[in-house]
Amino acid sequence: MPGTFIDVEVADDVRGDPELAQKLEDACPVDIYANRGGKVEVVEDNLDECVLCELCTAAAPPGKVRVLKLYDGTALERTG
Ligand code: SF4
Repeated sequence: MPGTFIDVEVADDVRGDPELAQKLEDACPVDIYANRGGKVEVVEDNLDECVLCELCTAAAPPGKVRVLKLYDGTALERTG
């Protein structure tokens, strides 16, 4: 099921980056990202477990991973 409260966006141009796929899988404490054959997979069932720790946005290049807070319309993203 998609998240009710949280969604994540991974930019198309980094989804196929195997190094990033592994970094995201390792970073997220609630397994929202999986490395599937070197591609970033978002595990929709886990989205609402997000604890807003920002480890995923920090692991990715600026602006490439965004955590959308669907409940208030804001987003977490690394800007620099
Ligand atoms: S903010 Fe933390 S818990 Fe939420 S998706 Fe990113 S790494 Fe996972």
